[in-house]
Amino acid sequence: MRALTVEEARRRAADVAVRSYRVEFDLTGPGDTFVTTSRIRFGSDSGVTWVDVKPERLISVELNGQALDPAQLDGGRFPLSDLQAENELVVAAEMRYAADGEGLQRSVDAADGRVYTYGMSSLESAPRYFPCFDQPDLKAPYTITVRCPEDWVVMGNGAATRTAPGEWELAETKPLSSYFVTIVAGPYHQVRSEHDGIPLGLACRQSLKDDLDRDADDLFRTTREAFDEYHRMFRQRYPFGEYWQAFVPDFNLGAMENPGCVTFADSMVFRSQATEAERSTRARVVVHEMAHMWFGDLVTMKWWNDMWLNESFAEYMAHRVSEEATSYGGTWTDFAFVRKWWGLQTDQSSSTHPVAPDSLKDARQSLDDFDGISYAKGAAVLKQLAKYLGDDVFLEGVNAHLEAHEHGNADLHEFIAKLTEAGAHDLGTWSDQWLRTSGLDTITVERTAGGVVLHRKSPDGSRRLHKLSIGGYDETGAGPIVDLTLDQDSIEVALGNDCAVIVPDANDDTWAKIRLDATSLANLPAVLPTITDGTTRAVIWNSIRDATADGELDPRQALGLFLTTIQHEDSDIAAGSLVRWLEDRVLGGYLDYDEYRGPVADALSNKLARTAPGSSLQLITARGVIATTDDAEWLKSWLEGADSPAGLKIDADLRWSIVLRRVRLNAAGAAEIDAELARDKSTEGVNQAARCRAALPDGKEAAWTRIMTDPTVGVKELLAAAEGFWHPGQAAITAPYVRQFFTDIPRTGAIRAGMVIGLTVHRIAPRFAIDADLIGPAEALIADESVVPGIRRQTANFLDDLRRAVEVRRSFG
Ligand SMILES: [Zn+2]
Repeated sequence: MRALTVEEARRRAADVAVRSYRVEFDLTGPGDTFVTTSRIRFGSDSGVTWVDVKPERLISVELNGQALDPAQLDGGRFPLSDLQAENELVVAAEMRYAADGEGLQRSVDAADGRVYTYGMSSLESAPRYFPCFDQPDLKAPYTITVRCPEDWVVMGNGAATRTAPGEWELAETKPLSSYFVTIVAGPYHQVRSEHDGIPLGLACRQSLKDDLDRDADDLFRTTREAFDEYHRMFRQRYPFGEYWQAFVPDFNLGAMENPGCVTFADSMVFRSQATEAERSTRARVVVHEMAHMWFGDLVTMKWWNDMWLNESFAEYMAHRVSEEATSYGGTWTDFAFVRKWWGLQTDQSSSTHPVAPDSLKDARQSLDDFDGISYAKGAAVLKQLAKYLGDDVFLEGVNAHLEAHEHGNADLHEFIAKLTEAGAHDLGTWSDQWLRTSGLDTITVERTAGGVVLHRKSPDGSRRLHKLSIGGYDETGAGPIVDLTLDQDSIEVALGNDCAVIVPDANDDTWAKIRLDATSLANLPAVLPTITDGTTRAVIWNSIRDATADGELDPRQALGLFLTTIQHEDSDIAAGSLVRWLEDRVLGGYLDYDEYRGPVADALSNKLARTAPGSSLQLITARGVIATTDDAEWLKSWLEGADSPAGLKIDADLRWSIVLRRVRLNAAGAAEIDAELARDKSTEGVNQAARCRAALPDGKEAAWTRIMTDPTVGVKELLAAAEGFWHPGQAAITAPYVRQFFTDIPRTGAIRAGMVIGLTVHRIAPRFAIDADLIGPAEALIADESVVPGIRRQTANFLDDLRRAVEVRRSFG
């Protein structure tokens, strides 16, 4: 099916004005399908258009009382002609439930056999479960009814009322874009509350009831705190009535900002212990989705090239509001370690793009831009903008923008216009430097005879202006922080050239590659642990990680810095991020796995012995130990409740990570996996078992076949299997699959749709095969235009990482 192009969308938006939708869902039938009837009232200027519908079977189409032939459906579009000025279209279709998280997803809970559904409409998915004009700038109010089993509840964009047993009606909504329409229907567990006149609700599967109930106060508190802060910042109140947060199964993003009924991946209902960092991350997702109620839902982009206006804004607000108004702190340190690191890598990849691209991709290609640029770089750029303009001007512009376009659509030019009216000057230059170009400057520091000089090197002629701070630290981690504006290629800094360590952008304000000088690098092992600001430590580690990836810094030196400083690291965000980096990139990537695994395991074991019982740091360190130790017997004793660290609860998910490690060490097999699944008969247990089975030496072939050829595997189970497949300790066993990836993966584009395609490629590309001979096959796949965009994009990311790892090994191997 072809994807909607921007030209088609513009033409249809000019021709068609949608007045209202009335959509009836009948979910009472048996089997894999359901029936939807959309009644759409719309005006037309040109007399011809089409409606989007991707059914299993089109039952009937009636336009202004005239029956049309369903056989006219062509590639997801039903052509409409002889339109009047005002029209009524009624389309009835048999639809197939989605198994890939897009459309109307239907999942069966392994714990109890109960069935849960929810709608995910983003990008091209809405016509997979209801006929509509599927583009962001054709908004209309929706009235939705649902027939379903009598023991179900229904939630959606409008407040739900049960009109009869098994029959529900959702209140008419404000004008909505098709991509954020949803229904959530099933025997969900619900928790209700209220704040400031807004009815609040939480929902999840029955099998997660106790876990959600335990955290309901925490989730409601964050929601209340964020509503208060948004109501302080924005002149419009939350406009969509009730506010439900539904935690749903097999969800393949973090969350989706459906007005009035946000859907979240239900992995965010913590059934096992979570670290403070994970709780804080979940709070930020809550706050992020709430920001979308204004940016995205109240005012919506016209086309997907301005998706950054949604995501960058929500991402910036999520961190800002979490830090300033919720009970969770350390937000910007987390941003630096996790989100910014993601964006910095993306901005140096072959697939980077401007934050606000001019290029007018079609709807399907736009999916690829839900990446580190649209989220992290855009958020960092908005943070710079707010600092540059001052908060009064920034918020005045934002509010004027929201008021001018409420319940409508707007683009970047209109946003810039409102900021300018609010008092901003010369935003054209700023926009060209930060939004219209891709790539990033490198900022280096030089100690001269008389002092310190900061240098800016641009990959293009952008001459980006940076507002940043430079820290100069002595052996005790103390020292001055100097603010400056870097508006030329070299600038003197008021710092002594005898500082032990000099850190450009010490507060992580700008967007650039940061490089430390040789003296600072040499002093880091001693000085890094004494620097108390976690964000500055994150800036240093991002510089170290980036210089390593660029082949400028010996990976053994980077690893050495980790080994000497990890004992002193008290942030679970830092420890968790660095261990993940070692697992993903360093051990088996830049460095030989067998040679360097042991020192990492020893360092983490030493740290584990000294962390406070029951602390987040203990939990995150224990996970690192489990992933790296080769002492399978020690881990077995943890499972048996003996010899595990005091205060560490060996709960369901920690048990599974131990089983996974024991499988990889050849100390456990299918019997141990089956026994664990017998203890944990949940959906989560099924997914964990899939991860472990893919790690079995004799389970590789079955896992590979499922991943590459089976369209029926649930999203989470599929991704778990892909995660279990590759491990540097199993290089000999997986060697035959390395080249097979390039021949098999293109076919997955034919058996799956949407986001899950790229998510699978990201996990199943052979990332520990550091072999220059793979560059050719990867290039050929990327160049093959018959392969779906998501596969080529993720293979391009794989190739970028491969090239870097090959280069690092060539330089330092
Ligand atoms: Zn978002």
